[in-house]
Amino acid sequence: MAMLEGKTALIFGVANDHSIAWGIAQALHREGAQLGFSYAGPTLEKRVRPLAESLGADFIEQCDVGSDEEIAAVMAKAKERFGTVDILVHAIAFANREDLQGRFVDTSRDGFLLAHNISVFSLVGLTRAALPLFPESGGSVLTLSYYGAEKVAPRYNVMGVAKAALEASVRYLAADLGPQGVRVNAISAGPIRTLAASGISGFRAYQKSFAAQAPLRRNVTIDDVGATAAFLASDGARGITGETVYVDSGFNIMAMSSEEE
Ligand code: NAD
Repeated sequence: MAMLEGKTALIFGVANDHSIAWGIAQALHREGAQLGFSYAGPTLEKRVRPLAESLGADFIEQCDVGSDEEIAAVMAKAKERFGTVDILVHAIAFANREDLQGRFVDTSRDGFLLAHNISVFSLVGLTRAALPLFPESGGSVLTLSYYGAEKVAPRYNVMGVAKAALEASVRYLAADLGPQGVRVNAISAGPIRTLAASGISGFRAYQKSFAAQAPLRRNVTIDDVGATAAFLASDGARGITGETVYVDSGFNIMAMSSEEE
């Protein structure tokens, strides 16, 4: 039997078919989950709708996660459409382009708050709003992080600091919600060429050196991340919560580039 048969997942963060959220959506669909999608704003609807429909979804609703009203509205619609939701996927981040170049020390107050609002608070806001939708048996919340949360990655700057806050939020949410059976985990993915990644200068060169240094000697794909997301959302991961799981070809275990051997 497919791992997610009978489960419903709400997916936030598909922008196009390169999005990590799209890799996750395809994997959850393959494992039998029923899907609902949310997109950030009107210009994205024409991209997201056909993708969602190709997986049989009819719940395709706008939600700018910077708005409490839009978060409440999308969850109310999901409750009406599905009754209960078992899996919440948060694959959302945003920072001003100027804050993803130069020095972290030059980050403006507004840029810092914006990155944390859209990339971190949104996980807390969406999870809280989804609580009444999880069935009594519990649920699974997944978010996406990056190694720049732990170690300094050039030009990742304010987003690295936001990802550190995101990973800490995963632990605090997991502790709060564990007693009601809701698990909260992050996947720390290696660099993947997506719309969000295009805002980080020097990304191509970084992917090249990443693949050279990682034990598996390759970059990861949205399918790799999707497969892990499907596992984490499944009953097979029933004992895992509050964790950051790496899908990064093993990059994070290396202290030094193997090119230097
Ligand atoms: P993407 O651009 O495809 O996805 C980012 C999504 O965030 C988009 O769908 C965008 O519409 C959404 N978003 C931005 N502001 C929003 C708002 N105000 N309201 C609602 N949605 C909003 O890029 P991606 O790389 O697939 O990013 C998904 C997640 O994966 C992000 O959290 C990103 O930091 C993380 N991640 C990416 C990489 C990578 O190398 N691409 C690596 C590790 C982690």
